[in-house]
Amino acid sequence: MSRVYILSLVFFILFSCSETANDVVIDPELQPYVDRFLAEGSKRGVDIDLTESGLDMFFEEDISTPDYAGICRYRLGANEIGIDKEQWDQSTESRKEWLVYHELGHCVLDRSHRNDQFENGMWKSLMRGDLTGNQNRIPLCYIWDRDQYFIDELFDENTVAPDWVSKTFDYNDKPIRGEEILTLDPETESFNKFLAAGIENFEIEFTHTRTRAGAFTSLLYGGSGSLEYNIVQFNHDNNDVFIGNDLRGCLRIPFENMAENKLTIRQLNGTTTVFVNEEFMHSFPAYKEPILRVWNDGFSQFTQIQEFGMWSIN
Ligand SMILES: [Zn+2]
Repeated sequence: MSRVYILSLVFFILFSCSETANDVVIDPELQPYVDRFLAEGSKRGVDIDLTESGLDMFFEEDISTPDYAGICRYRLGANEIGIDKEQWDQSTESRKEWLVYHELGHCVLDRSHRNDQFENGMWKSLMRGDLTGNQNRIPLCYIWDRDQYFIDELFDENTVAPDWVSKTFDYNDKPIRGEEILTLDPETESFNKFLAAGIENFEIEFTHTRTRAGAFTSLLYGGSGSLEYNIVQFNHDNNDVFIGNDLRGCLRIPFENMAENKLTIRQLNGTTTVFVNEEFMHSFPAYKEPILRVWNDGFSQFTQIQEFGMWSIN
């Protein structure tokens, strides 16, 4: 009888061990981002139980690997994610979310880096990593609702390419220009203009020349007095155009750099399109509020604007 009892006890202990959940310890400041990751997974039919993998997630003062904002380590079957405290404190919300999702992609979804790009140069995955050479200059477009695609892809690598990758517009499909609402003097280098009234449908077009090497030309537009904006910036040394907002970049596109270059921005019925020298560059969602301010102060160097106009369109 006693032997049976001992065997049962041993069996019970073994059984209990295999059922014991792994520890999950997450810094309270990181918890909301982990909760959001789990909710995004559930929305897509991927239900995750963190106790299966175990997870220890904490801030580190100085991550031993240079240039890393976060790191996922597998140690003896336990998962741990270290987040660099200094970089975290300097990050925007979108950058924090992307970082946590990326590290959870490694440690919880068992994903490795994915560095392929769409035909227009945009990254296919927020799991891009270990970038080399010029790749560091290409931003991840985690803005303008495009984060939804990257979250889809995080949970399903076979997510189809979104239409914003391949959609193009023709410069010659010109909207009708209405009232001219802003002009600048020829040879303007730096400006900061407030409009009399907010405008949602508009076209801005100007030509510019660079005055020396190292030149870059920018155009920013947004609401009045806010620190939020959309930006288009020419890099005349690398011959590419950077498109993004105050939070981060969306992409960089090569352009044919001429002695004089023309930028056209059309925002019409919720969509913005950008052309350089009448070549289509990219389209993206219109700015979230009516535009009240247009400027380049502090963002352009060594260029002169020759002909500038801003019109209402419909
Ligand atoms: Zn990584």
